Amino acid sequence: MSTPIRFEPVLGRVLQHAVAHLDGVDERPVGATTSLGDLRARLGRALGSEGVEPTRVIDELVEDVRGGLLGSAGGRFFAWVIGGSLPAALAADWLTSAWDQNAVLYACSPAEAIIEEVCGAWLKDLLGLPATASFAITTGCQMAHLTCLAAARNALLARRGWNVERQGLAGAPPIRVLANGQRHGSIERALCLLGLGSDSLVPIPADAGGRIGAEDLRAALARLEGAPAMVVLCAGDINMGAFDDFEAVIPVAHEHGAWVHVDGAFGLWVRASEALRDHARGVEGADSWATDGHKWLNVPYDAGYAFVADSEAHRRSMSLRASYLTHATEARDQMDWTPEWSRRGRGVATYAALRELGRAGVADLVERCCRHARAIVAGVGSLPGAEIVWEPRINQGLVRFVDPRPSATEGDHDAYTDAIIARVVASGDAFFGGTTSGGVRCMRVSVCSFRTEEGDVEIAVAAVKRALEAAASGDGER
Ligand SMILES: *Cc1c(COP(=O)(O)O)cnc(C)c1O
Repeated sequence: MSTPIRFEPVLGRVLQHAVAHLDGVDERPVGATTSLGDLRARLGRALGSEGVEPTRVIDELVEDVRGGLLGSAGGRFFAWVIGGSLPAALAADWLTSAWDQNAVLYACSPAEAIIEEVCGAWLKDLLGLPATASFAITTGCQMAHLTCLAAARNALLARRGWNVERQGLAGAPPIRVLANGQRHGSIERALCLLGLGSDSLVPIPADAGGRIGAEDLRAALARLEGAPAMVVLCAGDINMGAFDDFEAVIPVAHEHGAWVHVDGAFGLWVRASEALRDHARGVEGADSWATDGHKWLNVPYDAGYAFVADSEAHRRSMSLRASYLTHATEARDQMDWTPEWSRRGRGVATYAALRELGRAGVADLVERCCRHARAIVAGVGSLPGAEIVWEPRINQGLVRFVDPRPSATEGDHDAYTDAIIARVVASGDAFFGGTTSGGVRCMRVSVCSFRTEEGDVEIAVAAVKRALEAAASGDGER
């Protein structure tokens, strides 16, 4: 007789480890404290022929990753655009793994199909998108772009009598993609994956506020002489959180028959706040929208959301029928809308996050992050040797540090900025990243976590202050 399988010991142990990680996150250094070599040596254990008892697998895993995890679950992580995990969302994500359903078809997991259906309706309502738009829950904004732009490719070519899913792209009318010059790299990657190629990109230069001009777009569209076109706009670019002027630009694109896609990875969430909604005024007039759950909504990785106004173009670009599958007639089969086949029930964590926060909670989360971003930029900007480059309109700001030597050049200021960022990260008190904006190196201040509080702002500003003082006193390397 085989011994019965017992989950309780290993899941109980994981609960302890997880709580220790989450409760201790603000006490540990925010950055990594171990090296590449150490991690390889620790984790690169020999794969023995005998298996290992589950609780020991988990204990040793926790031991081996020590110092190799960043503190992005805490309140002082301000690099990239990375949120934490809300308690209900994290718990629901664990349940998703325990349930281990294949969220591909209604028939494979009726409950998870309905959970996604409900998420789609809630999200469109919160973000102020057309209730009739189709949606998909993807692994992130990258795949949401791929999903939306596949629908765009289908629709633009169908209008010219070309069935791209059947005929492919060879011989098809070439599509041009006019995009805000400050677009995220995931747009280009979606174009590569869709066979449009990065050469299809026609960047439209953004002004100092990160927006493209309606007249520039009109001229660029006219130069296409009727060729099928996509226009890709920003709802929150990664350096400034800039929004295109949707009300001015979308009608110009539509006059030319172009498909307008919006990259709203985090910025689209301003739509949930009455105070901030106006930044994205008119965005509902686009043809497709991509955003993330794992950034500003604070669900665990990974979750992105795609929405398409022309739901039939979306379905035509993804749907496939196979004789061994059981397709639903009344319910929604997720694979009609997502690029994945077998997939995790990634709607469950989103459902839980939205329930935990409610409408007011989402608005409060978004507004709080913006407030903290402004406070960090103001606090750091008032320090001797620091300059504000971009005051946050939403949750993204930029500062730079000025090399105090009288003969210092622009290049020296750039290097000095990187050196200060490195010092702050090495302090373990806060974690920031760098970027180049308007030709100068800057420290990005990006606030996305529900856990960031006033105290974290103070600690972060103090960490930058100490880094500047140490650098000015010539302590260690410049
Ligand atoms: C993060 C980000 C993306 C990519 O999203 P993933 O979820 O990482 O795939 C695209 N655009 C913008 C503006 C982003 O901030």
